[in-house]
Amino acid sequence: SHFLSLSLQAKMSRPVQARRLEGIDKNIWVEFVKLAATYSTVNLGQGFPDFPPPDFLKEAFVGALSGENQMLHQYTRAFGHPPLVKILAQFFGKLLGRDLDPMTDVMVTVGAYQALFCCFQAFVDEGDEVIIIEPFFDCYEPMVKMAGGTPVFVPLRPKAPKDGKLMSSADWQLDPAELASKFSERTKAIVLNSPNNPLGKVFSRGELELIADLCVKHDILCISDEVYEWLVYDGKEHIRIASLHGMWDRTVIIGSAGKTFSATGWKVGWTVGPNRLLRHLRTMHQNSVYHCATVAQEAVAQGFQRELERYGKPDSYFVQLPKELQQKRDWLVQSLDAVGMKPIVPEGTYFLVADISEFKSDVPDVPDSDEPYDSRFAKWMVKNKGLAAIPLSAFYCGPHKNNYNHFIRFCFAKEEATLKAANDILQKWKREKTSP
Ligand code: PMP
Repeated sequence: SHFLSLSLQAKMSRPVQARRLEGIDKNIWVEFVKLAATYSTVNLGQGFPDFPPPDFLKEAFVGALSGENQMLHQYTRAFGHPPLVKILAQFFGKLLGRDLDPMTDVMVTVGAYQALFCCFQAFVDEGDEVIIIEPFFDCYEPMVKMAGGTPVFVPLRPKAPKDGKLMSSADWQLDPAELASKFSERTKAIVLNSPNNPLGKVFSRGELELIADLCVKHDILCISDEVYEWLVYDGKEHIRIASLHGMWDRTVIIGSAGKTFSATGWKVGWTVGPNRLLRHLRTMHQNSVYHCATVAQEAVAQGFQRELERYGKPDSYFVQLPKELQQKRDWLVQSLDAVGMKPIVPEGTYFLVADISEFKSDVPDVPDSDEPYDSRFAKWMVKNKGLAAIPLSAFYCGPHKNNYNHFIRFCFAKEEATLKAANDILQKWKREKTSP
């Protein structure tokens, strides 16, 4: 009993979590990844390919792991394995048409996620505002808040397409006056994500110029999440905002080997930008993660070396992958259109957003529920149909979640068999709906 009273006394009663965690402890991925694991037979939810990375990349990893160079099992340079920062500097130097110093203008991170975290922690102070374009990759909001900043949201607004045509992600646009109205003296940065997750929107030059002009006018930073830079379809061009007038000096480009080489589990990402910005990212990185897995960095370096030699040629992975994904997109667009779950045709990324309005009768609405309709629909769908997708409301801030609550996001970076299985589920569902 002495023992018992000691342990009772030792139990903590005061709150343990730091204030910065208040209000950000719920996360939709925890919930939906678990639901998909429990119920789904076809998982088009979370964004990762179910096909392997290219052979040359796997071989590079195996070679690095089992080769002569024992040092690849040990720490490497904290801000990026030298071969990787060198090839990234060369590659992005070519894309941006400027000389990059691998030691100061490039930093390797644990996926694009850590690159984002470093940016918000390094640049955002208490009271600073950060503009986020909705719908947005959901982690931007809690990351800004954890840094003490205030996210300010501006939506892409959909315009109905002409006569019976399918909507395109290009039909979702910023209202220039509304965007301009969000900039103030407190604005520190804007987050740009083109190609955009979840819509698949690829921002046009005009749209990027609008954003760039506002950044220059108000002297603010641009955190440019370009993880889907190679996944652009229909001959569209990915334009790097850092290449626009006045932007290099104020932009951090964020990339990911996960998306670039279809190896999301490797968690190799990077930042590219001027030393005056990246030196602060190095301070953050130094005092948190410090270092990323050496073997994975070595393999990604070799992957980029190969791609540099084949740049723009038909056997380049950066040419082949978007071709394959465009085909997968087209299959899913067709499947969804055929059953009346109207797809918004994406110009890029792994993702496609579809309108569930015609299926609403299958999933009863609960009036006055706190949960947006699309979220309940997606849960019902995975439990009853075995098909996993993510509600679009997950990509909006709290007060705006119900503005867009009749869409769900599918990931089409999947094997043909997976997409076919999804099509079978949709067809069967449609038949059951129409035949009494
Ligand atoms: N940004 C966007 C827009 C993403 O979609 C993702 C991954 N879903 C990330 C960043 C994170 O990338 P990584 O896996 O390299 O950390």
